[in-house]
Amino acid sequence: MASLTKAEEETAAAEEWSDEAVIYVNSVRRVLRRPRAPHPAPTSVFGEQSLDVVKVAVEPALHFAINACLAPLYSVEGMHIITVEGIGNRQQDAFRVFSKRDDLLYIDSSPKNADGRPICPSTGKPCSCGDEKDTDASESSLLAHTKNYSPCSYNEIDGSVYSEKELIFPPELQLRKVMSLKLNGFNGIKWYRPIKLKQVLHLKACYPNAKLINGNSEVGIETKFKNAQYSDLISVTHVPELHNLIMKEDGIHIGSSVSLAQLQNFLRKVILERDSHEISSCEAVLRQLKWFAGTQIRNVASVGGNICTASPISDLNPLWMATGATFEILDVNNNIRTTPAKDFFLGYRKVDLKPDEILLSVILPWTRPFEFVKEFKQAHRREDDIALVNAGMRVYIRKAKGDWIISDVSIVYGGVAAVPLSASKTETFLTRKKWDYGLLDETFDLLKEDILLAENAPGGMVEFRNSLTLSFFFNFFLHVNHEMNIKGFWKDGLPAASLSAIESYTRPVGVGIQCYELVRQGTAVGQPVVHMSSMLQVTGEAEYTDDTPTPPNTLHAALVLSTKAHARILCIDASLAKSSPGFVGLFLSKDVPGANHTGPVVHDEEVFASDVVTCVGQIVGIVVADTHDNAKAAANKVNIEYAELPAILSIEEAVKAGSFHPNTKKCLVKGNVEECFVSGACNRIIEGEVRVGGQEHFYMEPQCALVWPVDSGNEIHMISSTQAPQKHQIVVCKTKRIGGGFGGKETRSAIFAAAASVASYCLRRPVKIVLDRDVDMMTTGQRHSFLGKYKVGFTNDGKILALDLDLYNNGGNSLDLSLPVMERAMFHSDNVYDIPNIRVSGQVCFTNFPSNTAFRGFGGPQAMLIAENWIQHMATELKRSPEEIKELNFQREGYVLHYGQLLQNSTIRSVWDELKVSCNFIEARKAVIGFNNNNRWRKRGIAMVPTKFGISFNSKFMNQAGALVQVYTDGTVLVAHGGVEMGQGIHTKVAQVAASSFNIPLSIGCMSTNHGSDLVQACYMERIDLSAHGFYITPDVGFDWVSGKGTPFYYFTYGAAFAEVEIDTLTGDFHTRTVDIVMDLGSSINPAIDIGQIEGGFVQGLGWVALEELKWGDDNHKWIRPGHLFTCGPGSYKIPSVNDIPLNFKVSLLKGVSNPKVIHSSKAVGEPPFFLGSAVLFAIKDAIYAARAEEGHFDWFSLDNPATPERIRMACVDSITKKFATIYYRPKLSV
Ligand SMILES: Cc1cc2nc3c(=O)[nH]c(=O)nc-3n(C[C@H](O)[C@H](O)[C@H](O)COP(=O)(O)OP(=O)(O)OC[C@H]3O[C@@H](n4cnc5c(N)ncnc54)[C@H](O)[C@@H]3O)c2cc1C
Repeated sequence: MASLTKAEEETAAAEEWSDEAVIYVNSVRRVLRRPRAPHPAPTSVFGEQSLDVVKVAVEPALHFAINACLAPLYSVEGMHIITVEGIGNRQQDAFRVFSKRDDLLYIDSSPKNADGRPICPSTGKPCSCGDEKDTDASESSLLAHTKNYSPCSYNEIDGSVYSEKELIFPPELQLRKVMSLKLNGFNGIKWYRPIKLKQVLHLKACYPNAKLINGNSEVGIETKFKNAQYSDLISVTHVPELHNLIMKEDGIHIGSSVSLAQLQNFLRKVILERDSHEISSCEAVLRQLKWFAGTQIRNVASVGGNICTASPISDLNPLWMATGATFEILDVNNNIRTTPAKDFFLGYRKVDLKPDEILLSVILPWTRPFEFVKEFKQAHRREDDIALVNAGMRVYIRKAKGDWIISDVSIVYGGVAAVPLSASKTETFLTRKKWDYGLLDETFDLLKEDILLAENAPGGMVEFRNSLTLSFFFNFFLHVNHEMNIKGFWKDGLPAASLSAIESYTRPVGVGIQCYELVRQGTAVGQPVVHMSSMLQVTGEAEYTDDTPTPPNTLHAALVLSTKAHARILCIDASLAKSSPGFVGLFLSKDVPGANHTGPVVHDEEVFASDVVTCVGQIVGIVVADTHDNAKAAANKVNIEYAELPAILSIEEAVKAGSFHPNTKKCLVKGNVEECFVSGACNRIIEGEVRVGGQEHFYMEPQCALVWPVDSGNEIHMISSTQAPQKHQIVVCKTKRIGGGFGGKETRSAIFAAAASVASYCLRRPVKIVLDRDVDMMTTGQRHSFLGKYKVGFTNDGKILALDLDLYNNGGNSLDLSLPVMERAMFHSDNVYDIPNIRVSGQVCFTNFPSNTAFRGFGGPQAMLIAENWIQHMATELKRSPEEIKELNFQREGYVLHYGQLLQNSTIRSVWDELKVSCNFIEARKAVIGFNNNNRWRKRGIAMVPTKFGISFNSKFMNQAGALVQVYTDGTVLVAHGGVEMGQGIHTKVAQVAASSFNIPLSIGCMSTNHGSDLVQACYMERIDLSAHGFYITPDVGFDWVSGKGTPFYYFTYGAAFAEVEIDTLTGDFHTRTVDIVMDLGSSINPAIDIGQIEGGFVQGLGWVALEELKWGDDNHKWIRPGHLFTCGPGSYKIPSVNDIPLNFKVSLLKGVSNPKVIHSSKAVGEPPFFLGSAVLFAIKDAIYAARAEEGHFDWFSLDNPATPERIRMACVDSITKKFATIYYRPKLSV
């Protein structure tokens, strides 16, 4: 074959190839045309909105979800794509299809013919789309395997169960013969989809550099984010020889194109069929796959793709090596060679494959009696995350002269070097040794030599990763001992407490409980009415800014961003950009018509940096082009030369250098702190420092704006995804709905809208800007990180006497809202505690990071977190529980707060007491102690945390609102108000208030009603004004910073949360077992929405304290370029997943309370519950205390947020961590 010329090769194969590519999208036939982007995803071509799950059917009809943005358009040829829009809509009762899942979408109650084959309802012919298929196995069990579908949803209208067949698989696709494809793409790209192995080899012979593609989950990342370009792509998904899954004498033969989901299903079958001693490797691979990516990735990602990518953190490669797997490699001449997996990985993403070779299959050998294999993986987040360290381990032991001797051993780690690394010295040492506890110490020492990460190793966390390597081996050792015992070879099992090291976590079905009383006021207020947009959102019908149809002639914008933290701009060279396809214009500071300076409070920013850049990600210019991709490509070609200047990259550096935003030093004083400290009244004085990590807003829809000139540029109109349209107002700014904001779209969105407006104004054309997620994350600022330095004096009884607190927040390179954030932090630094003498000072640090901004809680959570830290420090000193200390110091009714406000209508004690009963705290403590006594390597912890959140803006002028109510002659009531719907349900609540006020029923989705139309007509005929304007100013609020006294808050929202967690002390893994929350929301206008806010706020807070870590290029992270954000996407920044929701999650609203000061006696709910998430942090710390106690350490230690596995593991000091760090080691944090 290879001897043919290229032309001959192509001719020989020509007649077999088709260039007709057909797909169906939501049952509509589409013929694929040459796309405009290199690897468009189905979303970008068909313009389907809200497409996050694509279901694809292939012959015979399989149904699976895939990740739309990583699926090249051509990869779904011949398939039926069902997007969220295809599932249904409100008119058709959308939930009928949600009740179906995966393979079952097309089957179940289909009519069947005589031999039992289903009949296609569309063609009336037998149809294989009705073949019975297995459903997805449940995540909770290795072998869970279900055949039957039980309906899980019902018709909201008539209550009937959805089990009927709904969708019709397109008959054309069913009957059509699958063809080899040869298609042309953008920029000369060729896409081949051979259906025979010989065609693959033809193509490889002709184009040795062609890229093979299976699931594209790696290649897609390379082309999207790493600028990789491949001109010849060979999709090998349809080649049967690469899909083998066969059990043979020597093991399982796995074709390289087999998807991970197929492999999972096959291994489940194998495990049931084969002898138990043969399947240890299969079980290890299956367990590893459980935590490999998510379902959408596993459905397409292939075994071969994972191997050939040769990623240093591949979850499977260490296992292939440890299990002794071999790889079959095929060359273009059809020759097969075999190589052991352990010899295949040559260097960083380099494998033993020549250009004319492909990976054919993997042979996974059966294990022998007394041979054990185990997999390991520790990630930031359990679900859908890449490994920090992973491993595969295998040992074969044999009995000789009464001892069990190691005959063969393999220990391979991933995530510790450029390639999976065998611990070869350790392996040599262990071979022929007796398998008993005696080998552990020396093994640890050798492992430390084999796998020692250098201090500045990429990825950081070296103390943690080093500790993990030893912890994994310890776990393996116990696992083997346990297996020998349960299989009956060893009489003695593990000590009961040690079993906790090897129990794997399985998540049971979670339970949610919501408790509230209905306080109905009028027709609608007080009812748990469904959010008015919810049906639109779940059916994909809701329109966001990016969905707005663009006017003709619209240009697309991309930003030219600074790549230096602090530097002078020497020159900007746009010559390459100008010749880039589709380029229309580049706009810089000189092009701004009017002032280039801007800012929400102080004008200390520039629309486009003119001379000096002060952070990475600062906007230097904007490029506009005909498409989004062309704009990005051109912007990347703008070359800027800089002269670097010294940069400040942490709060500590800023404090040291005196780098503060001007006029931001503030102080609040009550009593006399100094006097109290020297008076002798304090039995104890403690000092400490709390570092509080930041948080990315991670709203669903990134920042987006569409700007267009009207009247030849006299007016500019704008649609923006902002949560504060008035801060963007030029002439007309509209915001319909935003996919979350959380504060991140309050001020920072203006700068992008302004940049787009400049281009639009200059060109007199519509300009649209949509930030990619990574650009959004690295440029728009986050929740402020804080540094708090405290000194607390208290009595031996636990009564607080004095607090001296210095707060610093990281403002970044402009002031933005950092000062009001600091002020709110200062107001909340007491949380709910009575502190007779207090001095709080605050100052905003200037650093060379993007400007940090508002985020749910607005500085309050950071300060309360610091308060809860020093309370816990006190408790440790006094050897009492933090909850006792808290109760002793609660503020009482009539207490004068440290800023002069009188505490009135405080319900904190009722909230706390109700929670204590609800969570049964005393019993919970006993149970935790019992568990911890019986488990050495797993510990449980509990905590109760209170909160008091001040409602009103600190700036008086912001405490105002207006509304316009109009009644139309058909009875429709229209309420226009200034609030932005950002998920919090403001429109629903306003509609409820309006309905109750007019005494009319609330009809969801539309406020029109005929009820009052006679009356309205009568009013109209009598010329009565049917419109009214309302204006409200929050009374009695105001604060004077000169005296440091006033009433900044109209009232407070109170709440308290209990959390119970379980940690794995060897790996740092944790999960939240129980959360119980009680909140006082007065008489809730809508308890359903309010409880949703509490649950959502709590989980967002949980993310902040336990999962989400921002890693910046600073002194602590030298492996990141200075000033750059490493965690700039969901791959590296982990928000809570479904699996992080507490297993038992109860929310109760305090009953019998009202808030007479406010409309319908309700209370604000959006921000207050966020801080309650910190209960999880303190529960984790409680569990860590139990782990440290096992080693004799009882004293105070710092646990910064987020309490990631790294922080948990390193705080659970034991003989392993002590090899790498001291007992007070504090993992690095960007603050
Ligand atoms: C969201 C997400 C989560 C992920 N999570 C994990 C995870 O938890 N663990 C993990 O290990 N990885 C993970 N990955 C990485 C990736 O999904 C896997 O490596 C996957 O198995 C790659 O398979 P693929 O079929 O998609 O590869 P593709 O992208 O199609 O191909 C990858 C590479 O393999 C080459 N290749 C494919 N088949 C052959 C063959 N037969 N012969 C020679 N070369 C071949 C291709 O040319 C290409 O270079 C994740 C990726 C994403 C996007």
